[in-house]
Order: sequence, then C-alpha cells, then structure tokens
Amino acid sequence: SSKLKVCASFEAMNLKDDLLRGIYSYGFEAPSAIQSRAITQIISGRDVIAQAQSGTGKTATFTIGMLQVLDFKSKELQSMVLSPTRELAKQISQVVGNLGDYMNISAHAVTGGTKTMQGDNKKLTQGCHVVSGTPGRVLDLIKRRILNTRHLKLLVLDEADELLSETLGFKNQIYDIFAKLPRSVQVVVVSATMSRDILEVTRKFMNDPVKILVKQNEISLEGIQQFHVNVDREEWKFDTLCDLYDSLTITQCVIFCNTKKVVDWLSTKLAQANFAVSAMHGDMKQEDRDRVMNDFRSGNSRVLISTDVWARGIDVQQVSLVINYDLPELLENYIHRIGRSGRFGRKGVAINFITRDDAKRLREIEAHYSVKIRAMPANLQDLT
Ligand code: ADP
Ligand code: MG
Repeated sequence: SSKLKVCASFEAMNLKDDLLRGIYSYGFEAPSAIQSRAITQIISGRDVIAQAQSGTGKTATFTIGMLQVLDFKSKELQSMVLSPTRELAKQISQVVGNLGDYMNISAHAVTGGTKTMQGDNKKLTQGCHVVSGTPGRVLDLIKRRILNTRHLKLLVLDEADELLSETLGFKNQIYDIFAKLPRSVQVVVVSATMSRDILEVTRKFMNDPVKILVKQNEISLEGIQQFHVNVDREEWKFDTLCDLYDSLTITQCVIFCNTKKVVDWLSTKLAQANFAVSAMHGDMKQEDRDRVMNDFRSGNSRVLISTDVWARGIDVQQVSLVINYDLPELLENYIHRIGRSGRFGRKGVAINFITRDDAKRLREIEAHYSVKIRAMPANLQDLT
C-alpha cells in the first residue's frame, strides 16, 4: 500500500465542481490520511478495503468517492451503503445529502423500525440515487421489489467486520443481498477494525481489491486518554458514577453498559437521584430512539447511557468522555466505544470501571491495543 497515490488536497482529486463546493461548504479544508489515499481508488472503479482509526473521516471517504462516480442525470438507484444500526444508517444518509448538497442528489435512509414501508416506497419510486440502510430492511425491500438493484454500481459496507461477523447475525442477510446485485457491482468495505470474516467476502464478492490497512498496534487512539477506576464490586459502580457526574457534563458523555436491562436500571436510578441522563437501546420504540438521538445531537441532553448499539460509527463531535460502566464483551468494541469521543483529532477521555473480576480482561485489552490504561487521576476535570 506504500505505492498508493496520496492526494494532499481535495483539488488534487479532480472532483466535480459542485462536489468540491459541497465539501468546502460542509467545512472540510484538507483531506484526512484515509481520504487522501482511498477516495481516488474508489473513483478509479476498483474494489477497495479501507481501514482507518475511529473518527478519521471514513464516511466522507466513501461518500466523496461515490458522489464523484454516480450519474445524477439518471434517476436510478446507483449506490447503496449498508451499516449495522438505524441511527448510523440515518447519519450516513445525512452526510451524503450534505456533501452532495449542490449536486441534486437524492439519498434516503431505509432503516426498519416502522411498521409500514409506505415512506420507503414513496421515496424510492420518486427516484433515489443513494440508499443508506440496515441489512434487514434493505433485504426486505429488495424482496418486495420496492428497492430495485438492477442499476446498482456501488455497494459500501460500513463497519464491515460487524456486518460480516459470524456471530452478530447480519452475515446471511448480507450474502442474500449480494445475490440480488449485478455481478459488476463495485464493492467498498470500510471499518476501523478488520476481521477474518471479511476475507471470505473479499474472496467471494470482490475483485482484486485495493487494501488500505492499519497495523494492529496502530489502531489505538492516541488522542484519547484511557483510565481505569477500581470499583472492587459491582455494587460500587453506581456511587462511583455519581461521584463523577460533574465531570460528565462538562461537554457530552456516553456511558456503555453490556445489557439493555442495566441501561434501564442505571438510567432510572440516576434519574431518581436527580441526575439528568438519557438512555437508548435496541428494545426501545424507534420514535423514542429518534427523540433521544435528536436531544443528544443538539446538546439538549449531555449524558447518554447505551449499549453497544451506540458503539459503532455514531459521530457527535462534542462527546469528550466515554465510560465503560461494564467492560465490553467483544474486544473489538473497546476501540469502537472509546472512539465515540476524540472525533477527528479532538481530545477524549475513556474511563473503565473495573471490578475484581475484570482485572484480567483489562490486561487483555491493554495487550490487544498496545496501550497502558492507567489509574484515573484525581484531576479528571482538567482533562476533559
Ligand atoms: P469514521 O467513520 O472514520 O469514524 P467519520 O466519518 O464519522 O469518522 O468522521 C468523523 C468526524 O470528522 C465527522 O464529524 C466528520 O464530519 C469529520 N471530518 C471528516 N473528514 C473531515 C475533513 N477532511 N476535515 C474536517 N473534518 C472532517
Ligand atoms: Mg464511520
């Protein structure tokens, strides 16, 4: 990958004028490392595997590549982005709409959680260039012939290792979707973490892909200071969190728990103790999830308690602190969770609550990411 062309500016990528305008008015000045390498590869038409750390602009990487190659005079669906959660699919659709603001692009999020598909049906039949969706709803719409993939040129799998994981349940849907796509479709897979499961898809559905990868020991996020707090026993976590509350609200904070039950319990208990918090997990009604997301994105709520439904991809720049109330069960999700802070080079802090039983797990995380997770200092306020 060292011989890949690197574009130091967006101009050097030979982008369409109205795309360049969209990029600059969105506030971007210069491309990030992954953008300077991968965008032109996507534009060249090759299949691409792009890995880069959390918060380094992978969304704009595939979006800019996509917007450059699509034909907006046609009204056909030409590009599809798949991602693991509804909130992420919506966020991606927003970014596509924003960067394509001057291109008359029509992007639509298809995400499930609504009983009828009338909304999707209307948008898709009116003509839609880009769909961003979760695998289940996308497959459903393809089967019902509401979503027509005949003219699809480009498929992006964001958070590809999660989508293709043997254990998380999307893999079969992704394979079923592939079976409905033109054989010529260009495939771009993107994630901060890559796994062996991706290799299989690479062999089956990709043609001599360009690989832009990060070494395992470089995946850790230097801009994020990582600490642990010994809470000894599970019961002590709650008081520890209450003690920290003032630090949480300086900017915005996400607290991760491993189960929906603990999310519900913790948010109720904090509310009873008069701490303002909001909560989100996959068993909530979609309208409630949407409301919580809007409140948090707008800064109306500052402390969000969630499960790993929030671990991947969600971009709220004001988040400067992540707390692992429970250590993640999946090693990969550690970096995804703490990567909700420190977006695009901003500073971030991650705090891990460690019971006696967690000590071994903490060492595994340190070894996996080649980081030292030190004891939390007393002056936490100064760090965030
Ligand atoms: P990733 O998918 O790599 O985790 P995102 O695509 O969500 O990261 O981008 C992280 C943040 O960086 C977003 O807020 C995005 O708007 C911002 N960003 C991306 N590219 C640039 C750029 N070239 N200049 C400035 N900000 C950028
Ligand atoms: Mg992302």
